[in-house]
Amino acid sequence: MNTTCDTLPSGTLTQEQAQARILAAIPVFDATERVGLRQALGRMLAHTVTAHIEVPPHRNSAMDGYAVRHADLASGQALQVIGSSFAGRPFTGSVQPGECVRIMTGATVPQGADSIVMQENVQRNGDSISISARVEPGEHVRHPGEDMRIGDTVLEAGRKLNAADLGLLASLSIGEVNVIRRPRVAFCSTGDELKSIGEPLQAGEIYDSNRYTLYGMLQKLEVEIIDMGVVRDTRKDVERAFQQASQLADVFITSGGVSVGEADFVGDTLKKLGQAEFWQIAVKPGKPLTFGKIGNCFFFGLPGNPVSVMAGFPLFVRPAILKMRGESAPTVAEYSAICTTPLKKAPGRKDYQRGICERDANGQWRVRSTGGQGSHILRSMSQANCFIVLPLEWGNVEAGTEVSIMPFEGLL
Ligand code: AMP
Ligand code: MG
Repeated sequence: MNTTCDTLPSGTLTQEQAQARILAAIPVFDATERVGLRQALGRMLAHTVTAHIEVPPHRNSAMDGYAVRHADLASGQALQVIGSSFAGRPFTGSVQPGECVRIMTGATVPQGADSIVMQENVQRNGDSISISARVEPGEHVRHPGEDMRIGDTVLEAGRKLNAADLGLLASLSIGEVNVIRRPRVAFCSTGDELKSIGEPLQAGEIYDSNRYTLYGMLQKLEVEIIDMGVVRDTRKDVERAFQQASQLADVFITSGGVSVGEADFVGDTLKKLGQAEFWQIAVKPGKPLTFGKIGNCFFFGLPGNPVSVMAGFPLFVRPAILKMRGESAPTVAEYSAICTTPLKKAPGRKDYQRGICERDANGQWRVRSTGGQGSHILRSMSQANCFIVLPLEWGNVEAGTEVSIMPFEGLL
């Protein structure tokens, strides 16, 4: 039988349905903070900036050359050089008929002069010059306010500030701006089997890797990161972690403990302290997802398997954080590629398999599987540079099939 969205087991959501529910629940963050200009890079501006001075503030030269009176040029007579105007050291006199001033780029155009002749078009003989080329009236003169005039809206509220914007603000002498506060994101790993780096392993224990993959993925989102360590599988420890996180953070992410195993207290605790929804999502890896809220803190409970964390995060957590930060379309680029290896797949879940993609000589994307797709095989994530995204209803994929890929670049 062909499995489609309509024939999913009841209570199971498609990835798109789960994403839509999450985004509907997440508000755009409006808390702001004041930061210095350099710290504002990449941040969302919280107010409109208008120019309170003109940029440039004075009439200045766009070229190294000579400042002249255009009316003098018709006769072809030589002009007397009466001084120099340097950037920051203007010539203070005024240019009379038959005179000119040596001028550098950015220097104030002296009174009386109205055009600049490039030095390449001038022959200098002692204190006078003759001009060999045609000069347009006003040529190479930059006017006050040509970049920004007083009262101009320079940057709109909601803009993500880039390098050029920092420069604009600096040229208006604005050293601090209000930006949307970064969401604070806390996370912990749950599991009695988990040890942190450097601790000796006892029988049955493994090292916690999820706190590091989560850290890496969160770092890309420019949030404030709060690492709450490993939390033991006891009601008391899980409850304490939830209470702490909900006081400290806007978003709390846990990994592990969301299945229906006997030591899985995450869901119970969330129900007790806040609101919880438990979803089975028709996506592989990472089927169960818990979404909820404690006070004003949004909660995401990801399954513990390392690959499930790395797939669940970009699909469900990342869009939520981007929305919080006010980014309008938190979409992820997908491309079509020829799959050069066969892929195993069962219908009924949308698969995010790990692939290695590259462009061939014709610019066509090709992708191959990293091999083992177990959700505990973190090396497959490390070797991969994209997800191969296979629709829910598909079964096994033959080599040569056109598939969708989602490059990790910019995503993970
Ligand atoms: P759970 O979701 O707690 O049932 O865990 C599913 C699988 O993921 C188990 O094999 C766990 O040992 C493993 N796992 C859970 N948390 C982590 C972690 N932080 N780092 C590495 N593996 C983990
Ligand atoms: Mg566990």
